[in-house]
Amino acid sequence: MRMILLGPPGAGKGSQAQNLSVALCVPHVSTGDIFRANIKEGTALGIRVKGILTAGELVPDDLAVRIVADRLSKADCANGFILDGFPRTIPQAEQLDAMLARDGKAIDVVLNLVCPDEVIISRISGRRLCCCGRTYHLTGNPPKVAGICDFDGKTLYVREDDKEETVRTRLETYHRQTEPLIAYYAQKDALCDVDGEGAIADITVSILGTLEKMGL
Ligand code: ADP
Ligand code: ADP
Repeated sequence: MRMILLGPPGAGKGSQAQNLSVALCVPHVSTGDIFRANIKEGTALGIRVKGILTAGELVPDDLAVRIVADRLSKADCANGFILDGFPRTIPQAEQLDAMLARDGKAIDVVLNLVCPDEVIISRISGRRLCCCGRTYHLTGNPPKVAGICDFDGKTLYVREDDKEETVRTRLETYHRQTEPLIAYYAQKDALCDVDGEGAIADITVSILGTLEKMGL
């Protein structure tokens, strides 16, 4: 199962990818998570991309492609993967296609999470993270104790780029650079629109039903 999750920032790509990764037994590959882990560890890559993420802009295509090529070459991706946050531009999508084609492979399905702007804004403004990688939402997916991770008891934090000024830039970046991918994948007959509204678990069930109907 080689799958891409597409959608604006805050649409629920990460939340669905986490559930689908467990259900389908394929790894969740999030470029945003890889960049944030590198920033936290202070690696050369982290130092290079920190300002770009903070500004809500996109990391250069060649760098994003290199990170993904490296990750997809690992043994755990041999039978499939769920890409979350990549590709984000047409050149990235073209390079991904070329990379897979060299091994006789292709993307099986692109799930496009469709969510109205007002829902996106409320999802981003209520997003809270734990350093263990789990994502919560103040109202949509709250932890049992406010501000504390259910699993490791650590204090939740707000992502640097979830601040209001940056969110505006990220949404503009999405519309200008990433939204054209919807037409790109529709043309390849790989696109499947998913209603991004409703409870997280219900959306996962509906996606799994759709994949089954598609014979995937
Ligand atoms: P979101 O969850 O809001 O969709 P991500 O966690 O996927 O955001 O990405 C956070 C940031 O990381 C992006 O705003 C961008 O700066 C950078 N980034 C992630 N993936 C890519 C990519 N494929 N190409 C360029 N930049 C990326
Ligand atoms: P993305 O990866 O697309 O940026 P996330 O999965 O991080 O999106 O979700 C953004 C925020 O919205 C998080 O706080 C998450 O807990 C919450 N969220 C995601 N999906 C839903 C949903 N279906 N209903 C309510 N809240 C949701």
